[in-house]
Amino acid sequence: MTIRNTKTFRPDEKGLIEAADALRNGGLVAFPTETVYGLGADAQNDTAVADIYAAKGRPQFNPLIAHFADISQAKLHVKWSDMANHLAEALWPGPLTLVLERHNKSNLSQFLCAGLPSVAIRIPAHPIAEQLLANLGGPIAAPSANISGQISPTCAKHVNADLFGRIDGIVDGGACQVGLESTIIDLTGVPTLLRPGGLPKDIIEEIISTKLATVLNYGVIKAPGQIASHYAPQARLRLNAKTKEANESMLGFGPVECDLNLSETSDLVEAAGNLFSSLHTLDCDNAATIAVSPIPEIGLGMAINDRLRRAAAPRPATN
Ligand code: AMP
Ligand code: MG
Repeated sequence: MTIRNTKTFRPDEKGLIEAADALRNGGLVAFPTETVYGLGADAQNDTAVADIYAAKGRPQFNPLIAHFADISQAKLHVKWSDMANHLAEALWPGPLTLVLERHNKSNLSQFLCAGLPSVAIRIPAHPIAEQLLANLGGPIAAPSANISGQISPTCAKHVNADLFGRIDGIVDGGACQVGLESTIIDLTGVPTLLRPGGLPKDIIEEIISTKLATVLNYGVIKAPGQIASHYAPQARLRLNAKTKEANESMLGFGPVECDLNLSETSDLVEAAGNLFSSLHTLDCDNAATIAVSPIPEIGLGMAINDRLRRAAAPRPATN
């Protein structure tokens, strides 16, 4: 792969014009959203979108999310529905991705959808992402800005550790507030939760007055029933740990003795925000195993546990 000169763009007017120019010229630019840092490319440029897969080492059958500035632009690319409209009006901008049937007039890159007849769309709630989208004047394809299968980035330092020299630039906008990827809902059939994320599913169910079906099959699945390894630190993970054993680092939740605490007050919002950065920190300390306190399976706890289970899953030999 060619080595790229990774610039840091300032999160000001001039920096965001330069970052949008880099995207317009087919470049790859990482930028903050409220969920995690995204690795952006012009979603209508096939070469640029293909370059995302190469930079991340991402399997080409794993499609990307297209980010839009507003609902009217997003609607041009999909078969819009009343339910999509209801959710979008209530929850966008925000950490919710909708999967809808792709409109046959859409000029989004085919690589974005990895050959699927559907497309995943979102409007991010972050001033830097919003300005970048406005400056580009079109959609941005953006998966998380990390090497495929590894921990998602919640600050510019994490992005550089994985992707420096592989991308054209990064807008450093500090830490991401939500800290977990978006919740993904498939609306092409029965409304289905594909990925728990930064928006608890009960909020969505309340708005559409419907219980969501659940098919958690995102990521790289090697065999039916296998949990895909994802969000994986170098260290092993031991989940639902009450105490720390010899040679372990402890990632706590609530009032427990530990090396790092996701939230001493058992606040799931705070814990979500700290999850990936804590895994990064303990991993940099070279722990062989990270023991993690039990996290309640409610609200954002469902998304936190999903990420922890995938981080603890058996690793593919190539990872
Ligand atoms: P990330 O790399 O963290 O941005 O993840 C994007 C997620 O969106 C992946 O898990 C994809 O499988 C999912 N996704 C994107 N497009 C689609 C689609 N058309 N249908 C179903 N899932 C999708
Ligand atoms: Mg990702």
